[in-house]
Amino acid sequence: MSDIDRVDALVDRLLAEHSFDDPQAFWGAQYDLGLAWVWFPEGFGGLGLARGLQSRINRRLEEAGAPTWNRRVNILGIGMGAAVLAAHGTDEQKRRWLRPMFTTEEIWCQLFSEPGAGSDLAGLATRAVRDGDEWVVTGQKVWTTLAHIAKWGLLVTRTDPDVPKHRGLTYFVVDMQAPGVDVRPLYQITGEAEFNEVFFDEVRIPDDQRIDDVGAGWRVAMTTLMNERVAIGGDTTPRGSGAIAEAVRVWKESRSDDPVLRDELVRLWAEWEAFRLTAARASEMAKAGTPGPEGSTGKLVWADLNKRITSFTVELMGMDGAVFPGGYRLIRPEGRDEMPPQKAFLRARANSIEGGTSEIMMNIIGERVLGLPPEPRVDKDVPWKEVPRG
Ligand SMILES: Cc1cc2nc3c(=O)[nH]c(=O)nc-3n(C[C@H](O)[C@H](O)[C@H](O)COP(=O)(O)OP(=O)(O)OC[C@H]3O[C@@H](n4cnc5c(N)ncnc54)[C@H](O)[C@@H]3O)c2cc1C
Repeated sequence: MSDIDRVDALVDRLLAEHSFDDPQAFWGAQYDLGLAWVWFPEGFGGLGLARGLQSRINRRLEEAGAPTWNRRVNILGIGMGAAVLAAHGTDEQKRRWLRPMFTTEEIWCQLFSEPGAGSDLAGLATRAVRDGDEWVVTGQKVWTTLAHIAKWGLLVTRTDPDVPKHRGLTYFVVDMQAPGVDVRPLYQITGEAEFNEVFFDEVRIPDDQRIDDVGAGWRVAMTTLMNERVAIGGDTTPRGSGAIAEAVRVWKESRSDDPVLRDELVRLWAEWEAFRLTAARASEMAKAGTPGPEGSTGKLVWADLNKRITSFTVELMGMDGAVFPGGYRLIRPEGRDEMPPQKAFLRARANSIEGGTSEIMMNIIGERVLGLPPEPRVDKDVPWKEVPRG
């Protein structure tokens, strides 16, 4: 039996034996059949097959109307945390965390950015100091999406200030409900507090929640970021769906006969389709393992296109585009919220910042894909504690 036939038979079985009424039970069954991350080992939500087969599974589930929104609600876990555990975690860590992550029983967040370390992530200052079988963490993170509902956080810390910045980092999974973790909302242009600032005041993390070796945090962080860029810019949704579907719907409703607007809509549709097909091809060709720097291309293109499509949609709406539906309520979202065009327009402004800015994507593509000369890095060989900081 070919790998495709095997996967198709398992999808048929999942659809035949499990109802859509209880999404968490459905996702549990999907995990147990190895259809959660098909390239992961058997017993850990996968079948050890090519990564590219996952898009076939997802497409078939979507076409059948099965619940697939766990990937959206728990994007930081399912899109990135899982890949980190698969590449760097122990079997015990995978067994503990992967299944409840996939079923959304446990939501995950990503604690990377700090007030003084965003694009320059390796310069981060949150300290972890060893105390027997535990680590004591003190510092501050910022822009932490969904920290207010997360059970677990992917955390990069500085464990050795005496070596150059990339070498003194260690990666942990932190319990977001542990004593000393303080999550405070940060409100965005949409009026929502989707992200937060997070303070750590002598938070204790058991050493068995460390991911990979002490000092290997940069390597693990890179696995996280490579997967984040694919999770954000690797759209493999069906043709004509998503932001461009909304633009077409609003166009039809507007009954506009303006040829300039129609030309613009068709241009955006074609650009979106070219992006979508490129992402789908990359996803289907993907083997097991961590995506490479070329994942930055999709993220860069998607950020720009999504901004232009959502701007065009509110422009089509005329004055209605300027009115925020339902009022401008300050809420703390949980990942499954409505996205009317006005809100999508405002939310899209963040696309060229989140997951690495577009300038940083261009630097990565220039240096690591095109082989252009690298940026000067004056602090590369200087111990972190001697690098001047603001
Ligand atoms: C909606 C949203 C959600 C987010 N969620 C999370 C999250 O869950 N977890 C998390 O850890 N972080 C999160 N972030 C933070 C995000 O990763 C950072 O904002 C981003 O990496 C940029 O860092 P910064 O904000 O510190 O900007 P800076 O790094 O200070 O950059 C400021 C400006 O300088 C430019 N710049 C900086 N360095 C260079 C360079 N070398 N070359 C050229 N230009 C440069 C940048 O492109 C940018 O325009 C989120 C951000 C947003 C907007």
